[in-house]
Amino acid sequence: MQASDQTYLSLGWVPVNVRHRTVPIALNASARYGLLQAVSPMSMDRPLAHPANQGWRKYRSVAMQAAAVVGVVFGVASIVPLGMYLLAPPDRVTNPLPAEPIIVSPAPPESPPVIVIRDAGVVDVEAGRIRERQTIVIRNGVIETIGEGLTVPPGALAIDGRGRYVMPGLIDTHVHLTTNEELLIYAATGVTTVQSLGDRVKDNQVRSAGVEAAALAGPGVVSCDFVAAGVSSDGVEAIVSDAVASGAECIKMYSPPDWTNAQHRDLVKAARARGLRIGGHLPRNLPLDQALANGQQFVAHAEEFLYAYFFKFPDRLNEARIAENATAVRASGLSVTPTLVAYHAIVRQVGPEIDALIVRPELRYVPRGVLERWKPPENRYRKRFTAADGERLNDAFVFQQKLVRAWSDAGVPLALGTDASPMMPFVVPGFSALDELDELRQAGLTPAQVLRAATIDGATLAGRSDRGVIAPAKRADLIVLDANPLDDVRHVRRRHGVMVKGRWMSEEWLQKELARRSEQTTARGPARREQVAPPSTGLSAAVVRLPRGQRPEDSPNHSADAESGRSRIPH
Ligand SMILES: [Zn+2]
Repeated sequence: MQASDQTYLSLGWVPVNVRHRTVPIALNASARYGLLQAVSPMSMDRPLAHPANQGWRKYRSVAMQAAAVVGVVFGVASIVPLGMYLLAPPDRVTNPLPAEPIIVSPAPPESPPVIVIRDAGVVDVEAGRIRERQTIVIRNGVIETIGEGLTVPPGALAIDGRGRYVMPGLIDTHVHLTTNEELLIYAATGVTTVQSLGDRVKDNQVRSAGVEAAALAGPGVVSCDFVAAGVSSDGVEAIVSDAVASGAECIKMYSPPDWTNAQHRDLVKAARARGLRIGGHLPRNLPLDQALANGQQFVAHAEEFLYAYFFKFPDRLNEARIAENATAVRASGLSVTPTLVAYHAIVRQVGPEIDALIVRPELRYVPRGVLERWKPPENRYRKRFTAADGERLNDAFVFQQKLVRAWSDAGVPLALGTDASPMMPFVVPGFSALDELDELRQAGLTPAQVLRAATIDGATLAGRSDRGVIAPAKRADLIVLDANPLDDVRHVRRRHGVMVKGRWMSEEWLQKELARRSEQTTARGPARREQVAPPSTGLSAAVVRLPRGQRPEDSPNHSADAESGRSRIPH
């Protein structure tokens, strides 16, 4: 079956009582768009199940004429408001987002076309060293030149870099972008690009456009939200065609369900042939060497390797297998986003350390309704796991730390990622990226290795060769710091300001906006999932849907069914 707009699935007939006569109405679902249509048989070119009701048809024609008159009247009446809308100041027209009831993220402050950062230490994330006393000239969002003693062009905004350090902005390659409000928090913590691995292609395309047009203060948005959770009889080509048609640039692999080797291999091949990236989970049921050979580009959790490999042995967490695994992963060319912060948060919230999580200051930016679900008694991980489970999870966490260190030593490209989403308790957008820097450091990476993962290697994973380093012709996504991050990655928290695509957001401005947002968040009722665009077309006829009512982000992630090893951690 070829998926198309006309592909509807009949769900059956429903009798509807119209003026004491029973009229059959057909319910149709579009496999592609998930639309539910109610169609009267009168409008269908097919034999009727019941004779047409002639009297009803007469009333229908009167009703349609009345509707046409109403339509003309309202159409004429709307000309004036439409004209006002079109003539409104540009910011009101170009901002594609509804103003209410969501909290609208602010636009970044206006920046002049030329900005100069004078005499700063530039962090070379590839060489892992500082280049001292460099002046950076930024024009129209792009780094133009870097050098010693450059003069400041007239009209430029000059930022004093003396005693300061300039590093590329952080790239969080594993988030589930859910609301516009999160955008400001990312920018305010130095995250200048996020890759979303959720399920909302269209929403994140809209958000991306908002950031690119300077209508929203936030990070550049890369959407890898087109989810493939198995292959239907339509085959892999249909998945890839749907992905391309939806505007996706990346396919999110989801497992479970199980994949056959041919399905996984063919999907990866078809995706790459069309220029799409593909990554996410590993197909956990396959032997790891097969999965690696199939050429998927990235894996979004270190823990995926527990399910796809280590837990398949009777002795499970056997460190003797780490070295061979690191060699195999390196040889495959795969990039890995360890996402340690999410797993660690689960370990901590299951045990007594939840007390320390609950008082963390960044929770003031979490919508109240979300926060209620993070705290006991609603916390889903405390409902699921006992204290004894917590110890096993901690063992698995410590094992992952060693795995990450081994991958790094073997030369596996690693990237920063957090899994930040409302479904991941205590993993707050942006703040968790700063925590992940620390997680990678505690796993044994040097500051230079951590910064590399957080910038250039994340850019490569996310398919963005235009950023991730401070160099001419690169996008001006950067952080100005008051301390050297190569001395200590915690210095990334000591911001002087953040720049996204050449728009300078001073720390003062960011903190002011964050404080305003905190007030709004606290005042607001339960959060709901915000929709900024029509439902994503990411799930198509060709894609096997997740179980009803289950979105990728609430699959029982980290439900390490620790005994069977067939466990399920989300995302
Ligand atoms: Zn995830």
